[in-house]
Amino acid sequence: MDLFYRSTRGNGEAVTASQAILQGLAQDGGLFVPERIPALDKSLDALAQMSYQETAYEVMKLFLTDFTEEELKACINKAYDSKFDTKEIAPLAAVDGAYYLELFHGATIAFKDMALSILPHLLTTSAKKNHVANDIVILTATSGDTGKAALAGFADVKGTKIIVFYPKNGVSPIQEKQMVTQKGGNTFVVGITGNFDDAQTGVKQLFGDKALAQEMDAAGFQFSSANSINIGRLVPQVVYYVYAYAQLLKRGEIAQGEQMNFVVPTGNFGNILAAYFAKNMGVPIAKLICASNENKVLYDFFETGVYDRNREFVLTSSPSMDILISSNLERLIYLTAGRDADKNAAFMKALQQQGKYEITADMKAQMADFYGNYASEQETADTIKAVYEKTGYVMDTHTAVAAAVYHKYKAAADDGAKTVIVSTASPFKFTRSVMNAVDAKYDAMGDFELVDELSRLAGVSVPNAIEEIRTAPVLHDTVCGKEEMKAVVKRFLGI
Ligand SMILES: *Cc1c(COP(=O)(O)O)cnc(C)c1O
Repeated sequence: MDLFYRSTRGNGEAVTASQAILQGLAQDGGLFVPERIPALDKSLDALAQMSYQETAYEVMKLFLTDFTEEELKACINKAYDSKFDTKEIAPLAAVDGAYYLELFHGATIAFKDMALSILPHLLTTSAKKNHVANDIVILTATSGDTGKAALAGFADVKGTKIIVFYPKNGVSPIQEKQMVTQKGGNTFVVGITGNFDDAQTGVKQLFGDKALAQEMDAAGFQFSSANSINIGRLVPQVVYYVYAYAQLLKRGEIAQGEQMNFVVPTGNFGNILAAYFAKNMGVPIAKLICASNENKVLYDFFETGVYDRNREFVLTSSPSMDILISSNLERLIYLTAGRDADKNAAFMKALQQQGKYEITADMKAQMADFYGNYASEQETADTIKAVYEKTGYVMDTHTAVAAAVYHKYKAAADDGAKTVIVSTASPFKFTRSVMNAVDAKYDAMGDFELVDELSRLAGVSVPNAIEEIRTAPVLHDTVCGKEEMKAVVKRFLGI
């Protein structure tokens, strides 16, 4: 049976999966949601015998029903290959009474790779299926992680080009080095003399520029976005929740049907929403534990039912979670409002105009599967140090937020359920914060010296992603003002 997608804000036409992937955002500004969440059609016992790639097919085929088996398998096999440094793709480490689901074994050593390594293939396949002859031009503004993961995913993918704008003085030296050394004839990285908001605003203007769209179309190009609200990013993320449960079943760590908890370090709410989808597909998940850093909008929301972004933005050591508007939460709002687009649209309007909204008691009751809490900067650092000293396992700052919240949950509600902590970045990506948490003396060391010291301490070899940038040549050195972005894009496209 075909599964169609509808916008969270309008009662417009239902679109196919491939159309939703191509469009990214719905025309009314809403997010695409499948008309129903499909149930797994294989038993967890059967899934326990499958590889990551096979599991990906079994999960994704249920969402992307207008893709043929051949098309979907081709996308999966191009994505989850030797770019990952382990055959398991998403291994589970048993540490200190919990399991860490390591989602950082891809090209850029952070969890964004799980979806961004397959999105380019889903997009180009979607373009073909819908008879789009233009090349797809991905345009992104980044404050660090997403830009690099998108570059790595799209590099040298036929039929695509990717342009990334980043704030010239607003990303870490390692993040900048990762981006400006990006290979691939279809990649273009540009520093903006401004902050992230300038880059983001500029990109939005380019997306809305009708004259530019016409010029591009005439030259055989059209823009698309690799934003985390794209259904082509959400669906691949459901896979590793199914896979993690099945693997633990296979290892005999859990019994058939046993309920487990997942703790997810959360920013934009995409990763944990994928866990919610997995639960609704039939994976025995008890609690979805939503972990925030000091930007604890979501914790307050789950406590009170009020989403309120009117607060100070805190810069933390887990920057990928420094977010005050969690875009993907809109999908949960829509679903718990009984798929009522008007009701959801009213909440989103209030968020835009007053910076806050309050859900109904009935909606809040439907969110009982979620538990929210947060970790302070000190708690995050203490967790890294304590787990390292006890077990030798070194985790990154984002994962440490989740681990700290896991301990708070256990103290508050000891339900005895086994727990998976979703590990979203390699400690080598946030080496300085991680090493400072272990011992303040490391602050005196240089970036790459620290990398070697971490490798020694953790007994883990330096990941390729870091090794490469030590010596890689700079391939992108364009810097422009925010008013020059359009000219720069046109020059790159040769129009
Ligand atoms: C993006 C990111 C997150 C947050 O994930 P969301 O899906 O936005 O909630 C957490 N940790 C790391 C390392 C990330 O890159």
